[in-house]
Amino acid sequence: MTLGVMGGGQLGRMFVHAAQRMGYFTAVLDPDHLSPAGRVSHHHIQTAYTDPQGLHLLAQRCVAVTTEFENVPASALQELARNVVVSPAASAVAIAQDRAEEKAHFAGCGVPVAPYAVIETPAQLASVAADLLPGILKTTRMGYDGKGQIRVADRAALGTAWDTLRNVPCVLEKMLPLQLECSVIVARGADGTCVHLPVQRNLHRDGILAVTEVYEGNLPPALTERAVAATKSIANNLQYVGVLCVEFFVLDPASPAAQALGGLVVNEMAPRPHNSGHYSIDACDVSQFELQVRTLANLPLTQPRQHSPAIMLNLLGDLWPGVAEGGAATGTPPWDAVLALPGTFLHLYGKQTASKGRKMGHLTVTAASVAQVRATALAAAGILGMAPF
Ligand code: ATP
Ligand code: MG
Repeated sequence: MTLGVMGGGQLGRMFVHAAQRMGYFTAVLDPDHLSPAGRVSHHHIQTAYTDPQGLHLLAQRCVAVTTEFENVPASALQELARNVVVSPAASAVAIAQDRAEEKAHFAGCGVPVAPYAVIETPAQLASVAADLLPGILKTTRMGYDGKGQIRVADRAALGTAWDTLRNVPCVLEKMLPLQLECSVIVARGADGTCVHLPVQRNLHRDGILAVTEVYEGNLPPALTERAVAATKSIANNLQYVGVLCVEFFVLDPASPAAQALGGLVVNEMAPRPHNSGHYSIDACDVSQFELQVRTLANLPLTQPRQHSPAIMLNLLGDLWPGVAEGGAATGTPPWDAVLALPGTFLHLYGKQTASKGRKMGHLTVTAASVAQVRATALAAAGILGMAPF
């Protein structure tokens, strides 16, 4: 049987690896002939995401199709769903594509969000409550890795920022005092079974995930229980089938915002495996990509067990010699020195060129103890020229 995926990025590539390991054939639809997933898949359909012929071919080849990035046009998923099983459903992906709809869904689930206002008209811009500033103006659609968002200190900056974003529909979010960030990945089957990975603690730099740490004691247990419960309620209320990641802010407990909002605030969701779950390939008995395969093929879901403390370092193009200085890569990072450290797993996505902020791969570090995993990960970061954490 063949399983299909819309999108050929690194998430699609790791889905393909998991599916192939379990004996499936795979098909990827992505226009780029060099896409990371297309290059490792049995079939690669190189058309636009909305191309009727490409979608027809994918539906014909596959018993079920999933998606690896949330900006696949919902209309393409609807079209596919006429002829083949599609999960997650177009309706759920459509909500995740739109920050305003997403926030309304979270609020409907009783999970607090950052105070915000929708800005679609000059009148809405003018009537923004003073309490939302300083804030972050984010385009409602198509943002990722901190793109499509601008931090604004006051009303004048807000107006300028909305112009910079070409006056497209936006949400203005109040800037919250973050103590830390975390995320929860669940997999939900068609029968309503819902399992979750351990809660991930995430460090972002310049709006991009830099480090994920997952081990006993990375977060207070009372907090992780609330985050898991909130994520399951978000998935259940969508009748979601597939892998879903929800990102959370944990607020500085001393701040008035924490008093007002209860300490844990949902940021956004991704209707697919997530960068913060990559450690599960090497540190859990079932990875987030195997969970994706299982939900897609309607196989049983078992609660994943993490067998080693883990830290994931994102390998951005900036780490390639020459790139941080604004040029083309003149070599590669010192992989031999990194791989000489015990318990390191190097994943590279096969991208042809490194550039600033581009996700080229990740390094997962595992060890027998929390102290050891931190020591090894910090040593790897030092070798790679990443700031300590
Ligand atoms: P992703 O790649 O996760 O999809 P994104 O581009 O959608 O990222 P967000 O998750 O909205 O961006 O924001 C990126 C980061 O910016 C957050 O992880 C957080 O560190 C910071 N941030 C975003 N919104 C707020 C806020 N309201 N208050 C404080 N910090 C924020
Ligand atoms: Mg985010």
